[in-house]
Amino acid sequence: PFRTEDKQDRPGYFFILSGPSGVGKNTLLGIVLQGLKGVYYMPSATTRPMRTGESQLNPYVFLQIEEFEAMIQSGQFLEWKKIHTNDYYGTHLPSIQYAIAQGYDIITDMDVLGCADAVKAFPDHICTIFITPPSIDELSQRLYGRDSDVSNIQTRLSRVELEMKHKDQYDFVVVNDDLQDSAKRLREIIEQVRSSKEFC
Ligand code: 5GP
Repeated sequence: PFRTEDKQDRPGYFFILSGPSGVGKNTLLGIVLQGLKGVYYMPSATTRPMRTGESQLNPYVFLQIEEFEAMIQSGQFLEWKKIHTNDYYGTHLPSIQYAIAQGYDIITDMDVLGCADAVKAFPDHICTIFITPPSIDELSQRLYGRDSDVSNIQTRLSRVELEMKHKDQYDFVVVNDDLQDSAKRLREIIEQVRSSKEFC
């Protein structure tokens, strides 16, 4: 539900946030979006189980595998990936197309490979931001803190290297050392890009 007063007199900007699982993207985003008017969070779809504290649309559209596969078949994803174990994650193409065409600024979360696909699909409308942990040790501690399933944690940690390798391809990199400081930096980046007439 976009509000017409948030419409820009230019195409919508498509902000993509990437970074290894557990780096705190969703927490950061939650803080940033509270203080940012007119930027809409576009939840990805996933088939992974909900975690405690999550709900439908927060932070994902949680789907059954059959529903997700039907959407792949009907071409509804800008990109989709199987990440970690066998869980699907994907970005709903019509929503993104609509927002950009109508002049609404949006932000979404994607892994590094999905982000590369999105940049190819919308080269002129995208601003990419990578959130990095202060260290891999710290990330590992965070993952252990939020999940008691060790195999879950290990699958996520095994992907960190792949994610970190792509960080230099992003328009901006934010180190999530202190949550409030990082949220402030992230908000400044988004505001700076929104107020400029040129894309990143
Ligand atoms: P989780 O939320 O399960 O800890 O982490 C999921 C991983 O999937 C993160 O790296 C996140 O960036 C990524 N992700 C979330 N949504 C999407 C999406 O729509 N597409 C892709 N390719 N990756 C996504």
